[in-house]
Amino acid sequence: MPVSGLPPYDDQNVFARILRGEIPSKRVYEDEWAIAFHDIAPQAPVHVLVIPRGRYVSMADFTARASAAEIAGFFRAVGEVARILGLEAEGYRILSNMGPAAGQEVPHLHVHIFAGRPLGPMLARA
Ligand code: AMP
Repeated sequence: MPVSGLPPYDDQNVFARILRGEIPSKRVYEDEWAIAFHDIAPQAPVHVLVIPRGRYVSMADFTARASAAEIAGFFRAVGEVARILGLEAEGYRILSNMGPAAGQEVPHLHVHIFAGRPLGPMLARA
């Protein structure tokens, strides 16, 4: 089912290029459904991005068009990355920006995993 208001997927976006191996990334995990790599401009001591391999712009797009196996595989990968990074005891934050209001820079669905310092309030005050 197409999602109303969603821009078309841009095959030249930076994460599409990372998935094709056209630009390098510092991988921390990969499997059939997802890859995870260090953010190029980290905003916390731990800042890792997890992305599905499929061509999805947003969470609404992903959950409308992806198979149950893709959806399960992606979310399992997010948890696996948190386990690999050993973050459970100290805690961490998972964040995903969608569209203009959230300031999404890269139009390929991704979740950020932040950790390694106190992460402050959930949102900056407007
Ligand atoms: P967002 O604003 O949620 O779309 O976040 C996009 C993130 O991608 C930012 O935190 C960028 O620093 C990060 N980013 C952009 N280009 C690269 C790259 N080549 N490798 C790793 N991270 C990147």
